[in-house]
This record gives sequence, structure tokens and C-alpha cells, in this order.
Amino acid sequence: MKAETITFLILISSAATIIWLERKYPYTKGLPFFREGFWVDLVWYTLIQSFFLKILIFDYIILPIDQRFSLSPLKLISDWPVAVQVLFFLITHDFYIYWFHRWQHNSKILWRTHEAHHSVKEVDWIAGSRSHVLEIIINQTIEFAPIILLGADPMVVPIKACIDAVWGMYIHSNINVRSGKWQYFINGPEMHQWHHAETVETYFANYATKFAFWDWLFGTAYLPNTKPNVFGLPYKYPKDYFLQHAFSVKRFDEDELKKKKGWRQYLDLRFSIMKWLAGLFSGSEKRNSKTESVA
Ligand SMILES: [Zn+2]
Ligand SMILES: [Zn+2]
Repeated sequence: MKAETITFLILISSAATIIWLERKYPYTKGLPFFREGFWVDLVWYTLIQSFFLKILIFDYIILPIDQRFSLSPLKLISDWPVAVQVLFFLITHDFYIYWFHRWQHNSKILWRTHEAHHSVKEVDWIAGSRSHVLEIIINQTIEFAPIILLGADPMVVPIKACIDAVWGMYIHSNINVRSGKWQYFINGPEMHQWHHAETVETYFANYATKFAFWDWLFGTAYLPNTKPNVFGLPYKYPKDYFLQHAFSVKRFDEDELKKKKGWRQYLDLRFSIMKWLAGLFSGSEKRNSKTESVA
């Protein structure tokens, strides 16, 4: 079986398990499955954005860097066991992401690349996918470039990407996890739900992604015995995918924009983009099936 098929099966089964656990043991009771922004997160962020950014990051950023410096043929770490390679990149990238995330919360400019992620008002399994285009380009280039450039085993990228996706779903999930002492080590919804809370106490707390020990080590952990009531941003934020990105450049009121003349044209344009994308996806699927049948 191909790595893509295995990754797909792991993702689907993990998502199904997490969704089931959310229904059975909810962190916040009564959260609807189709909450506000669900379709934006699923269609735009999870499917379309990640599809295009994967091509951009791997084919147009990392590959040219590798061709320019010819580092991957040196195979600097390829004789390490695959599990050690994965663990090495898991820990080093998680350390980076802790500090970059912390910087995003402390810098007015970088906050513009991170506020989208905090705009979800009902945090669930798919909420973590909402990340600004620039945030993904920066973080995933820094994540995957060393894996390619150091000549890691070809399985490290799909394994790492799969762990990222499952862990991302888990820490955002609306599951009432009580992991006790493990929460000092492994990050989960207990601390990350608080990170998304709209409370002053957590504006600068719980930055960790996979390993919670960064927060405990660097003094930013926040884990009371209570649960937050309000999530999201303390200011109004657009609901539309493109406007969410435009908002990071220039502030405006989405409701006021809807009253303006050009709004209709904008919706038509957005519809045309969706149609073009649908054609592109079905075209590439047809091409793939043709090449597979030729092979
Ligand atoms: Zn954050
Ligand atoms: Zn988050």
C-alpha cells in the first residue's frame, strides 16, 4: 500500500475516533457538530489551502533550496534509524514552534498571521486547521526543509505530517481529557482549549503544541481546575476565508462590506474560483487515473 493511502486511512480513522469521543465525553457540553465556520475550516483550510500550500512549500521553496545547495545527497542523517529521525524532528520542531508561537502572541505584526487560528468560537477537532496562509508557509517550510536537506529517510515526511495532523486534531478536540501527570509531558485539549479561551489569563499561556513540557519549563503553563466559558477573539472577525486573510492586512467590518455594491461581484468571483478549483481537482484526478492505468 502507498504511503498516501496509509496516511489517508490513519487520518480518517483518527478523525472518526476523535469525533466519536467528542460526542461521548465533551469538554464543552452541547457543542454542535456543524458549528459556525465548520465548512470554511473543512473546505477552505483543510482541503484547498493545504493542497496548494503543500505544492508551494515542497516544489517551489524546499526543492529549489535543495537544488541550489545540494545538501540532501550528502545524506547527513540517513543512517539513523527512522524512528530516531522522526523523534529528532518531532522534538526540534516542537521546540521551534513553541518559541515562534510565543513570539506571534507577543508581536503585533506576527499576531496578524495567528489571529485566524484564534478566531474559532467553538473549538473542536477541525478548529486547528484554521491557520493563516503565511503562518503555514513559515512553519511548514521550517518543519520540512531540514528533513529534506539533511537527507532523512523518505518515510519521515509522511510519518511526520500524519503525526502533525492527528495531534493537531487531538489538542483542539472537544474531549474532556484528564491525563493527570501526563499533562506535564504530552499536550492535549486540557491545556490547548484554555489557549483558545477568550480570557486575559491565557493570552500569553499554553503555547505548546505536542509536548507540554515547554510550557512548564519556560513558565507559561496555565491549567486551573475550571473550564473556560468563552472562546475566540475579543474583537469582531470576518467569517469568509478570503476576508479573513484580507483582515490581516487591513482592518474592516465584514457586515459593512456586505452592504456595499461590490459584494455581489465578490461572491460571483468566489463562486468562479470554486468552480475553477473543482475543475482543477477533477482534471488532476483524471490525469492520475490515466497514468495509473498506463502504468
Ligand atoms: Zn496561539
Ligand atoms: Zn490551537
